[in-house]
Amino acid sequence: MSISFETRRYVVFSILSLLALLYATILLRGGLRQSSSSGIPISAQLGSTIRRENATLVILARNSDLKGVISSMRNLERRFNHRYQYPWVFLNDEEFTNEFKGLVLLETNAPVHFGSIPKEQWVQPAWIDEGKAEESRHRLKEQNIIYGDSSSYRNMCRFNSGYFFHHPLLQQFKYYWRIEPDVKYFCDMSYDPFQYMIQNNQTYGFTITLFETPETVTTLWDSVKEFMTKYPQYIANDNALEFISSNGGKTYNMCHFWSNFEIADMDFWRSDAYQTFFEFLDAKGGFYYERWGDAPVHSIAAALFLPKHRLHFFQDIGYQHASYQHCPSSDESLGNSCSCHRWNTIGKFLYLCNP
Ligand code: GDP
Ligand code: MN
Repeated sequence: MSISFETRRYVVFSILSLLALLYATILLRGGLRQSSSSGIPISAQLGSTIRRENATLVILARNSDLKGVISSMRNLERRFNHRYQYPWVFLNDEEFTNEFKGLVLLETNAPVHFGSIPKEQWVQPAWIDEGKAEESRHRLKEQNIIYGDSSSYRNMCRFNSGYFFHHPLLQQFKYYWRIEPDVKYFCDMSYDPFQYMIQNNQTYGFTITLFETPETVTTLWDSVKEFMTKYPQYIANDNALEFISSNGGKTYNMCHFWSNFEIADMDFWRSDAYQTFFEFLDAKGGFYYERWGDAPVHSIAAALFLPKHRLHFFQDIGYQHASYQHCPSSDESLGNSCSCHRWNTIGKFLYLCNP
């Protein structure tokens, strides 16, 4: 069968048009959404060359958190991420709705990943004595402890303590920035905190330190002491024990890094030391028999297993979560962009929790 020159020209033209259309679509949709890879310069669309590290922004959220999620995203995109376009990872114990995903995608040009948490990582383990757990929920409620009677809050604390960094969507990344719904970043970021962490050999970064509610961690320190005796090899020489204990390790002073903000290296949580620590604590049942939070668990591990020079106070990141905030004491380097008052800060100074 012979094909006329006209037909052939038509077919070639159609294929070329299709390819052009496809290319234009990829440029429009995907051009800005380049996948992240370690230290690759991202120059397209951005005018200048900006280096991006092997890192991601991560939010754990419910579908009902949508409004607060959008608020946090809009804020961080404006203050930082529109220039760097670090990917966003959203995790939920349920499926995200199409509405959630659709509206979140409108807030960023960066790659976005939505993931569900494996059921077994968001459940009170079968070996937990439910009678004892129920008694704890009842007791903490009576004592008016926030989230005292919540099982889902306990699942959340256990997930953030022991599992988020194992999620398949996070395996490709080393560093993460934890974000929560309804948080605020007060200042334009003049540099990339991930790059700072790498260049300065930092492992765990924080902005606010606070006291934990003692009723939620009654036996946590006993377990930590037992762990230290059993596994002395994991305790760093130049550690920050004095941040978490004011009497050389006898008792816990309740100080912790407020973990709703974290910029850290997930390989630390994936290390033998931390894995062993989490499993040891988990087996004690304290996530359910008390209400151990991921903040004291992360903080105690970072203070004990890392030399203190690997903990970084991000003095220059203005940040607010609920009623506490940190405002940089000097905004010279930030070009006076901060929308907070520098005397209005809890930082790491109030409450005398100083690593
Ligand atoms: P708080 O900061 O200690 O007052 O606790 P939050 O309620 O803010 O919870 C901490 C983080 O876990 C936030 O990012 C929440 O969106 C998330 N979170 C809390 N409970 C749940 C839950 O039941 N399901 C999901 N998917 N996320 C949760
Ligand atoms: Mn919160």
